[in-house]
Amino acid sequence: IPVDPFVLVIFGGTGDLARRKILPALFRRFCDGQMEDNSAIIGAARSDLDTAAYRQMVREAIVEFGQEGGSCEAGTMEAFLETVHYVSIDARGETGWSELAGLLDKLPGEERVRAFYFSVGPSLFGDLAERLHCHGMAGSEARIVVEKPFGHDLGTAKALNKTLAQHFDESQIYRIDHYLGKETVQNLMAIRFANMLFEPLWNAQYIDHIQITVAETVGVAGREDYYDHAGAMRDMVQNHIMQLLCLIAMEPPAKFEPDAVRDEKLKVIRALEDVPAKDIVRGQYLESDDGSKPGFREHVQNPESTTESFIALKLHISNWRWAGTPFYLRTGKRLKSRTSEIAVVFKDAPHSIFGAEAGRHCNILTIVLQPNEGIELGVTIKEPGPGGMRLVDVPLDMTFSEALGPEAEFVPDAYERLIMDVIRGNQTLFMRGDEVEAAWAWTDPIIAEWGAREDTPVAYDSGSSGPVEALALMHRDGRRWREIR
Ligand code: NAD
Repeated sequence: IPVDPFVLVIFGGTGDLARRKILPALFRRFCDGQMEDNSAIIGAARSDLDTAAYRQMVREAIVEFGQEGGSCEAGTMEAFLETVHYVSIDARGETGWSELAGLLDKLPGEERVRAFYFSVGPSLFGDLAERLHCHGMAGSEARIVVEKPFGHDLGTAKALNKTLAQHFDESQIYRIDHYLGKETVQNLMAIRFANMLFEPLWNAQYIDHIQITVAETVGVAGREDYYDHAGAMRDMVQNHIMQLLCLIAMEPPAKFEPDAVRDEKLKVIRALEDVPAKDIVRGQYLESDDGSKPGFREHVQNPESTTESFIALKLHISNWRWAGTPFYLRTGKRLKSRTSEIAVVFKDAPHSIFGAEAGRHCNILTIVLQPNEGIELGVTIKEPGPGGMRLVDVPLDMTFSEALGPEAEFVPDAYERLIMDVIRGNQTLFMRGDEVEAAWAWTDPIIAEWGAREDTPVAYDSGSSGPVEALALMHRDGRRWREIR
């Protein structure tokens, strides 16, 4: 279904994110007919380009980073590029602002949804908001999209919220967390709230524990300076993993509407217990065995760095539903494979009628975010054959393409979904300011404690599953991490 005609200004339109994600996502939506050709995209960045040169850059970005699959008719690229314009602008100065205002006024056609994507470093958010306001470009209907990182701690996040609030109402602000745009993440809500099967069991009585793993194979190349100041806790846990945790743990919202969902997520964050030091393992990757890839400290060129490239932690949510159920989270760089998954591990049956030799079995619901988005339910059945009652665990596997046919084989990128939601004015999959602040309020004391204790991360091998200490974190509870596949 096409969205209303819009004009989207991408501040930072020549940057890495715009080229790798935003522009290819818009092109895909254009190919699918969701973005019509009476909409417009304006790249706005520091580089001194004209529209022709920018269109060439956009073309190259789409060729390089556009997703495979889907259908795109010949000539579509030319039609798409016709919608693209460029203004050279300085967020901190006056250059380009009247040109941008002039271009916005000049674009022909009916009223369009107006959106401004802040795909620039967060230090420019305030300047952009202020100048948009001064130049009268962003009225009460306009929307702004802001990228992560949203602050470095609670203080900076509050300051950022305050700055944006001077010029925009909360209903106009779309804070992106691209994990929320993933098809399986939305499916998680469908699984929980559209089926009678799971929700009655979704609590401490039936669930033994929940594991969330976000494993990457890459190191910190290209983002060394940022990462050495951030670390895995700020870069991954405070935002992406926290959002996944909220969707898993929240109470059913009354409606699938922005504030109803976000209110429930906020309650989860506020119910998080403090995490004692013994329940946290921080790690730094070592140089690869063949010496071809540097270790973390060499990578960030800081031999004294105490920043973690891996973190595993156990946490508890202090409420009626989850009392006593641990949540184990881990994320890291330079791990064995690129995997993101949530595993909901149910308790063993209270009594085995098949005797001790049948072993222990439990159901595991796995929500796979990458590489192949899908949902898998592990069930225990009888092993076929005449060998008596031997039990075996098998997956009831449901990759979307198998279940729904080739149509579903092409899973849209999260940015496609999220940008279209901005145009539709649907904030459900975006973080509200108070959510972000609550997440920092939980994260800050943990990080402060590392500083006070002068905590140093342990080392782990490149290409491994992380430090052995992280395995011990679960072993001592009689549990184990799922294999990083
Ligand atoms: P980048 O350095 O590649 O691009 C920065 C862009 O900002 C360029 O277009 C540049 O011209 C523009 N810019 C810089 N100073 C400017 C000024 N004074 N006036 C106008 N334009 C100016 O950065 P990026 O990787 O594209 O990241 C952009 C934002 O998105 C950052 O906040 C980053 O943290 C966030 N982000 C990036 C990624 C990613 O994969 N690249 C992922 C998540 C979030």
